[in-house]
Amino acid sequence: MLSNSQYSASDYQHTLKDSVTIIGRGLHSGLRVIMTLMPAEANSGYVFMRRDVTPLRAEVPARWNTVVDTRLSTTVANAFGTRVSTIEHLLAALSTCGVHNARIVLDAPEVPIMDGSAAPFVGLIDMVGRESQAALIQAIIIDKPLIVVGQGKHASLLPAAEFSVDMSIDFDDSVIGQQTMDIKVDEAIFSEQLAAARTFGFQEQLDTLHKLDLAKGGGLNNAVLIKDNKVLNEEGLRFKDEFVRHKILDALGDISLVGASIIGKFIGRRSGHQLNNQLIRTLMNNEECWHCVPLVEHRRQNQQMQWFASDS
Ligand SMILES: [Zn+2]
Repeated sequence: MLSNSQYSASDYQHTLKDSVTIIGRGLHSGLRVIMTLMPAEANSGYVFMRRDVTPLRAEVPARWNTVVDTRLSTTVANAFGTRVSTIEHLLAALSTCGVHNARIVLDAPEVPIMDGSAAPFVGLIDMVGRESQAALIQAIIIDKPLIVVGQGKHASLLPAAEFSVDMSIDFDDSVIGQQTMDIKVDEAIFSEQLAAARTFGFQEQLDTLHKLDLAKGGGLNNAVLIKDNKVLNEEGLRFKDEFVRHKILDALGDISLVGASIIGKFIGRRSGHQLNNQLIRTLMNNEECWHCVPLVEHRRQNQQMQWFASDS
């Protein structure tokens, strides 16, 4: 056990230094959403608060076991059925940028979609800054491999010394085709290489959803849209492989719902919200496959292993 004086600021949980408000549109409703990110107590994680709902029913914790819907986006709900959807891009930004606890106040049942990426949320976090809290960051160390399988797809978590994501996608459409990315994820890499990757879809799919009164806010200003093997957005792509980068972003948001840093390798093969959630549910229900320690203890052990390796 280490004494407190041996810890550095990066070993402790952080919250936002101040509140910050952003206005955007909901992907599902197409309506205006006002969202305020606020500081929150240590060990409280991410908790949504719906201002448009009676206070007793307003609080919706974002946890692996509050996920109720993974079609189109990840949706969480409380016992009263109060829902918040499209949480994944915001949670990817908060968790990867080292904001462990935040209260998220909304006047609608969905997080604003903004430009379809996590970059606007990273901008907000940078703007207000973070504040250290009096509780250590907890880490879930993967000890044994876990895998969940869907039709033609799978997702797994493997033991590894640090967190990384290996994602691949495979679409018939030639604009997307096969894309693979294997990347160690930290705050700088997320901000530079993943945060700006936008969600994507096919124009025909969007037309069908619009007919069903779904994705009413979806369009060229918040998604990459593809039709007849062409990108319809005038500005083109932000990265040549923007699609797989966005899938990594989605996975980061989805797996942040375990409420701790994961030390292990996430592998996704055509994995989406449903399989990502199935994987973390399997993880949390199989305690023999992992253990939880303060992140600082894992870092020290890792350093010692490297010293031993360099000595031998
Ligand atoms: Zn997404």
